[in-house]
Amino acid sequence: MTPRPRILTGDTPTGRLHVGHYVGSLENRLRLQRDHDCYVLVANVHAFTTRAEHPADIRRDTFELVRDSLAAGIDPDRATFVVQSEIPAIAELTFLLAMLIPYARVMRNPTLKDEIRSKRLGEHYSFGFPLYAVGQCADILAFRAHLVPVGEDQAAHIEMTREVARRFNHLYGGVPSTTHDEDHERAGGVLPIPKALIGRVARLPGIDGVEKMSKSRGNAIYLSDSSEEIRKKVARLHTGRQSVTEPGDPDNALFQYARAFLPDPERVRELADRYARGDNIGDAAIKHEVAAAIDALVAPMRARRAAITDAQVLEIVREHTRRANAVADETLRRVKQAMRLDFDVPRDVFVGCNPARVEDRFGSSPQPHSVLPRER
Ligand code: ATP
Ligand code: MG
Repeated sequence: MTPRPRILTGDTPTGRLHVGHYVGSLENRLRLQRDHDCYVLVANVHAFTTRAEHPADIRRDTFELVRDSLAAGIDPDRATFVVQSEIPAIAELTFLLAMLIPYARVMRNPTLKDEIRSKRLGEHYSFGFPLYAVGQCADILAFRAHLVPVGEDQAAHIEMTREVARRFNHLYGGVPSTTHDEDHERAGGVLPIPKALIGRVARLPGIDGVEKMSKSRGNAIYLSDSSEEIRKKVARLHTGRQSVTEPGDPDNALFQYARAFLPDPERVRELADRYARGDNIGDAAIKHEVAAAIDALVAPMRARRAAITDAQVLEIVREHTRRANAVADETLRRVKQAMRLDFDVPRDVFVGCNPARVEDRFGSSPQPHSVLPRER
């Protein structure tokens, strides 16, 4: 039996899931989990890039993200949830891959530049902030994923992942640089070259009508919002239009919402046509329809969400992350072997080091200046 193609996808616990996630990535995850080996990463280490002072919030949102995903229909018997901080191979791989990506290449990454601007990080972001782009390459490659369902904002990260995987396979797997992406594994490369899968809506604007909808920009409609919250948020969407007879822009943020959420495309066309002509159609009426459609989409999720406890989430992530470690450890083993870093030192010497056992193994106690970590 040929193994199912593998997917890696994920979110940062900087808040709950919003409707931009749904149309940008979650919808694809729900479809693909049926016949793909699907890993859903909660990037809790990367959340520290912007929230280092708030570890309790990161922990809370780690639970919230899993709860949102389950409520939206991610099936824990098919997909695997992965808590990033619990996968040591990812951290190790980040360091190794960082050697293969020029610093200037990371800093040129348009997604990073955009985040620095729109999240107002100024010049004070941590060293870990740009490093997260390399870490994301490691997330994807640790699982040897073939496909990465993402919104458009992540495309630049996936492109960097593809570049580093090609370079790795060329340097350490002898894969000729002319090899097609899909042939890398057959040619002896350790790492498949992953592809981005952009969602039905590549970039949903936030309710500010300008920036991308984002958890950390205060402009999101959450999957867990109440009907009333949804109505109020959609009502705030600014179009700049003054009257029902003023011709409007049928590509503005309101219409991007209409296209994303109204179930009947014919109805959207009709509304857009009247809007463009200023044919006695107010923003409020369209907003009412859009809010009702979003509410109908998330109402069943809201109900399922309420029944999912923290204890259930914890049980799932513990079980799943253990499974995920087996895959990531195997990747790291292959990576280190390819890089001639395979010394086969048993891990239990280093992990939770016990002097008595070290003595058993080496015939003497560790010296005072031993590089082995002390038992805590
Ligand atoms: P943050 O503000 O902390 O960066 P975010 O809202 O951008 O949070 P992420 O966790 O960074 O959410 O992204 C999770 C996934 O959802 C990524 O694949 C991303 O491309 C996608 N995504 C996020 N926002 C949107 C959006 N507005 N439209 C389409 N896809 C999106
Ligand atoms: Mg983001």
